[in-house]
Amino acid sequence: MRCEVVAIGTELLLGQILDTNSAWIGEHLAAAGIDAHFQTKVGDNQARMVQALRIALSRSEAVIVCGGLGPTQDDITREAIAEVMNVPLERDQAVVARIRSMFEARGRTMSENNKRQADVPRGAVVIPQTRGTAPGLICPVGKKVVYAVPGVPYEMQDMLERAVLPDLTARAGTRSTIVSRVLRTWGLAESALAELVGPRLDALDAAGSNPTIAFLASGIEGIKVRVTAKAEDRDAALGLLEAEEAELRAILGSYVFGVDDDTMETAVGVLLEEQCLTLGLAESMTGGLVASRLVNVAGSSAWFRGSVVSYASEVKFDVLGVPEGPVVCEEAAAAMAEGARKVLGADVGLSVTGVAGPAEQDGQPVGTAYFGIALDDDTQVVHARLFGDRERIRQYAAISLLDALRRRLLARA
Ligand code: AMP
Ligand code: MG
Repeated sequence: MRCEVVAIGTELLLGQILDTNSAWIGEHLAAAGIDAHFQTKVGDNQARMVQALRIALSRSEAVIVCGGLGPTQDDITREAIAEVMNVPLERDQAVVARIRSMFEARGRTMSENNKRQADVPRGAVVIPQTRGTAPGLICPVGKKVVYAVPGVPYEMQDMLERAVLPDLTARAGTRSTIVSRVLRTWGLAESALAELVGPRLDALDAAGSNPTIAFLASGIEGIKVRVTAKAEDRDAALGLLEAEEAELRAILGSYVFGVDDDTMETAVGVLLEEQCLTLGLAESMTGGLVASRLVNVAGSSAWFRGSVVSYASEVKFDVLGVPEGPVVCEEAAAAMAEGARKVLGADVGLSVTGVAGPAEQDGQPVGTAYFGIALDDDTQVVHARLFGDRERIRQYAAISLLDALRRRLLARA
């Protein structure tokens, strides 16, 4: 069973409101195991609505139309559906009476316009309204079906859960559910990732593509690998998902830093907490970005001591005890990490120094970065070369630094 969504409203095309209804419906169709291959947005124009509905019906068994059921002249979803069904609109007096009583209950009188909301294409079934004045519609088109629900999210959601999804799953016959999980990876280019996972993708294709795997590039936050599994019930789908996660983790190893809502900083926080370590930072080129990311993690006060934003060289020398001399080099990064550990009374000292640009510094090119990690009796420095403009280099430096710490902690565990 394939079902697509057609969202109605010129305001959606103009970018005046976001089409959150399509996203919500998409999520709920997936949870109900119904394939949804297309979402369309159309303005309040009858000819184009009819065109969009015909296209949707040509490639799917069901269509959910949201919006355009209001009382005003531009609300013409009913007319468009009647045209597609090739039937007249008929005013349903029971619906008129219900709308009138809703107004009376609020001490108001129904306007003549509201009666339009009681117009029903011949052959359609009314979904009674509970939250607003517009009823929904279940409209048979041959063996296929068009559902019309209001645009107001609160009314749409109620009707979808109460009437549309049950009707859809009944028509689909077999019940199934779709679940997905995202593996967060960092440090691999999309092409390298695709090459590593390629053989696994081929094996899944050959076995019927369940689960499926998709890559989603997420800028400096790495590449997401989304696994989607379909099965008769949620437990069976989760079983498929977990088996696939294990396969992918075996291939990707420590490139995977978390799942779903995990971030690099939550991953680092978990490792620090597991190893009962506290962290002190010395930030130069990132100017507090790393500290800001770490304090975003709820409960970070258990392991995060603080950060010295040692931007000026004198602050590196005077506060952190870095020996006077060049400040963008391995030795300076090591001394900053050791200084941060000491000054902040932490178990781990972490530092970053480098050149964010636009001009080079100490003879070092833009994008040069050194990450220092003082832990146990061993201070190590990672040298990186980052690319992009000043903002991008600073953001990259922050996440690269956290990843360097994560890898050091993993190696220690
Ligand atoms: P309508 O049923 O087209 O008169 O829409 C009524 C109201 O619902 C609009 O003014 C929007 O605020 C909201 N709305 C309509 N369509 C959507 C949509 N696709 N996503 C989110 N909100 C919507
Ligand atoms: Mg509208």
